[in-house]
Amino acid sequence: MSTSIDKLATNVPQFTTARQFADVEADVRNAIERVLASNWFVLGGELDAFEQAFADYCGVGACVGVANGTDAIELALRACGVGPGDEVIVPAFTANFTALAVSAAGATPVLVDVCTDTATLDPSGIEPAVTSATKAIVPVHLYGQPASMGPICDIAQRHGLKVIEDAAQAHGARYQGRKVGSIGDVGAFSFYPTKNLGAYGDGGAVTTNDPELAARVRVLRHGGIAEGYMSVVKGRNSRLDEMQAAILSAKLPHLDAWSERRRAIAHSYSEAVGAAAGLLTPLQQAGSDHVYHLYVVCSERRDGLAAHLQAREIGTKVHYPHALHELEAYPEWHALSGQFPNAERLARTVLSLPMFPELTAEEVAAVCAGVRGFPRDG
Ligand SMILES: *Cc1c(COP(=O)(O)O)cnc(C)c1O
Repeated sequence: MSTSIDKLATNVPQFTTARQFADVEADVRNAIERVLASNWFVLGGELDAFEQAFADYCGVGACVGVANGTDAIELALRACGVGPGDEVIVPAFTANFTALAVSAAGATPVLVDVCTDTATLDPSGIEPAVTSATKAIVPVHLYGQPASMGPICDIAQRHGLKVIEDAAQAHGARYQGRKVGSIGDVGAFSFYPTKNLGAYGDGGAVTTNDPELAARVRVLRHGGIAEGYMSVVKGRNSRLDEMQAAILSAKLPHLDAWSERRRAIAHSYSEAVGAAAGLLTPLQQAGSDHVYHLYVVCSERRDGLAAHLQAREIGTKVHYPHALHELEAYPEWHALSGQFPNAERLARTVLSLPMFPELTAEEVAAVCAGVRGFPRDG
């Protein structure tokens, strides 16, 4: 039995963009043709249309396309008035880009540990980290799991802090019925090709219900130019080009079906993996809709599990092998070793199983069988 399942398991990638192209090929080719025919490549009608569609999708008043998700966070912070001398609270466990964006805005990222069960910012760690210099909190909806926005926004309100949601991994996820990117003051999205809504290149967006904030991001992304080549602020060059905007418009109508399929795959994994010894599966929080950008298990024998699956040609990856205070880019944090035990444990134990909407039922079954076949000890 298990040999035949192992045979079906040949080469299950952890992720690939290749299969999704078949779903969207005709619409994407039309979109590209349309842009070529228009002879207009930056800041045009395709961007306007996508910004409107994505704002509607997220349930916000405004969306501003930018060059990538890192810039989305940076420009959102700058539009909120955050800059040099200010402190911004970020989780100690996330993609390093979250912290880099804070640094790029000229502010200082301040680390707070994450919860072990959700891998998102632990609200109980925020207030002890707040100082007179704190201006904002950047919760991350890591892996597609909404952060604890209720408690986080309460704390922000008490201390007069802005909340910038890093929603790079969570397009369409909901927290108590509300889409991420619509809950804090600003949302920041990435359309990097591996994200749940991915361009064929780089892309990002800022979402907000505050029209003035949106207007400031529009100025910042385009050289600080308000009108007539008058640069009113030292902005950036960070625009979402027409080609990527048109491609994203072609893909957006598929996003909810893709998220449904991700949830179905996650459900199958959790049923199978839940039975396997010593593995922690993602928490399905009541009132939240996880969109499973990644399906991440935790194991004290993570490297052994990865090798066991690799031997069955099942791909896995580690997102992420380092907590932020362990990164070489931030030597000033190295002395904090031991202060974020949950982040450190996650970095040691997380493993991402194959996850993308086009996984076949056979492949999902093969992954389940592979994980169940992992020896209980040794
Ligand atoms: C991908 C990602 C980013 C950065 O987005 P880019 O488009 O690659 O700049 C930021 N934060 C998180 C959590 C991400 O996953």
